[in-house]
Amino acid sequence: MKKVIVIGAGFSGLSAATELATKGYEVQILEKNDHAGGRARVFQSDGFTFDMGPSWYWMPDIFETYFGRFGKKPSDYYDLVRLDPSYSVILSETETIDLPANYADLKTLFESYEAGSGAQLDSFMEQAAYKYKVGIQEFVWKPSRKITEFLSLKLLVDAVRIDVFTSFYKHIRKFFTSPTLLKLMEFPILFLGAISENTPAMYSLMNYAEIKLGTWYPMGGMHNIVKGMVALAEEKGVKIAYNSEVLGFDIKNGKVHGVQTAAGLIEADAVVAGADYHHVEELLGDGLRNYDEAYWDKRVMAPSSLLFYLGISKRLPNLKHHNLFFDRDFTVHSHEIYTDPAWPSDPLFYASAPSMTDPSVAPEGCENIFLLIPVAPDLEDTEEGREKYFEQLMDRLEAHCGVSIRDSIVYKRSYAHRDFKSDYHAYKGNAYGLANTLMQTAILKPTLKNKHLDNMYYTGQLTVPGPGVPPSLISGIVVATEVDKELKG
Ligand SMILES: Cc1cc2nc3c(=O)[nH]c(=O)nc-3n(C[C@H](O)[C@H](O)[C@H](O)COP(=O)(O)OP(=O)(O)OC[C@H]3O[C@@H](n4cnc5c(N)ncnc54)[C@H](O)[C@@H]3O)c2cc1C
Repeated sequence: MKKVIVIGAGFSGLSAATELATKGYEVQILEKNDHAGGRARVFQSDGFTFDMGPSWYWMPDIFETYFGRFGKKPSDYYDLVRLDPSYSVILSETETIDLPANYADLKTLFESYEAGSGAQLDSFMEQAAYKYKVGIQEFVWKPSRKITEFLSLKLLVDAVRIDVFTSFYKHIRKFFTSPTLLKLMEFPILFLGAISENTPAMYSLMNYAEIKLGTWYPMGGMHNIVKGMVALAEEKGVKIAYNSEVLGFDIKNGKVHGVQTAAGLIEADAVVAGADYHHVEELLGDGLRNYDEAYWDKRVMAPSSLLFYLGISKRLPNLKHHNLFFDRDFTVHSHEIYTDPAWPSDPLFYASAPSMTDPSVAPEGCENIFLLIPVAPDLEDTEEGREKYFEQLMDRLEAHCGVSIRDSIVYKRSYAHRDFKSDYHAYKGNAYGLANTLMQTAILKPTLKNKHLDNMYYTGQLTVPGPGVPPSLISGIVVATEVDKELKG
């Protein structure tokens, strides 16, 4: 039995490990932290359960596909509920839109902002459905190692049909003119870590995912997905060692023979790195890494985040499960993320309140709140800086809820660049890996195989297909398939 070591127990590492174990390999995951999940870890304090990262469960079909590969269903591990409204958008102190889950109701809402926009939404969705089908069922499953993978006539025709070469910004303006509708339709693009001007129109598949497939929530919290994946991996024979940071590699004759940990050398026939790509490159060192520092420095990173986890000792009115505070000018904020990186002068932010749906994540009568400001990576991150934003967010949250909140905070923790670096070795303190710009798509992303070492591979949000939970699951399967082909070949 050949042995594969997987570095990191995030979504991509767990996915790669489970697929490899199912294909008959002995698989060991080495994880530096004390539990699984990576950016989707969880912590408990004062009776609250906080998901540390992802909070939006989109593309339920990908989770079905994932668990289905191994003869399971998501419902074997967690109960999903569809959120309605899907989310709430706060446009100003006096205007809030709740996005209905029902499509007919959504069209009525669109019509109230722009006459004829209901029919426009239909034609936009028809195209988006096709993009979802081709993008999610075909493109993202390609290992993207050679241009020839994309040279079939059908895929070339599809590439044009799904608007790989047009920007989302231009595309969406062919359908709608209302600034509010444009704001709503451009929101899912933010998940890709880039602004709509730099994002291929193909990603209107995200609107299809959001509007047609829905926004869901696994009861108990997002970490229940991780728990399910760990249980499945272990059932397939994967061994997971926590508190086991990989510190280096044993390399001879163009091959990795094992990885170095504080406990000693662990031998392997192949290594799959699910830890941050740049960090693994640093461990490999010059001559063995795929890309030099100059390459990494030129990449467009998705934003980092300033986060606050709050336990509140009372229920808060006027909040929904997902709340987007789009009550400020995003052009200024996005400029401060991408063009001229700086701490934002007046940021948009997102507030998640899972206790609105799930009583298990907060003590009775309390609220569990997670606040997120997207910010440029690589900024100086200080306690005082974090506090300044905390006060701004509290002012806006209190104004929106119409009650005092500061006096009811019983738990508070902040999290930003410094933590991303120390917890995950995140390059520039990134939260979501690389932005999905056209020049960082498919074969233009950091490749999943090391160019100097025969048996060293990469998976996760910094390689194909990109950031987000569903892409990370796919990334693990894609790399495991390549490893299997090459180890058997
Ligand atoms: C705040 C936040 C909110 C998000 N919201 C959403 C959302 O709502 N929906 C969504 O779909 N996605 C969301 N994402 C993105 C999603 O969480 C990530 O894309 C995904 O979790 C990445 O998984 P991964 O396996 O690539 O990496 P990671 O989760 O980072 O896993 C890498 C693992 O490697 C480990 N590691 C690092 N170095 C070493 C080493 N030397 N030795 C051993 N182990 C090591 C790390 O500890 C970590 O466990 C969010 C991310 C963040 C940060």
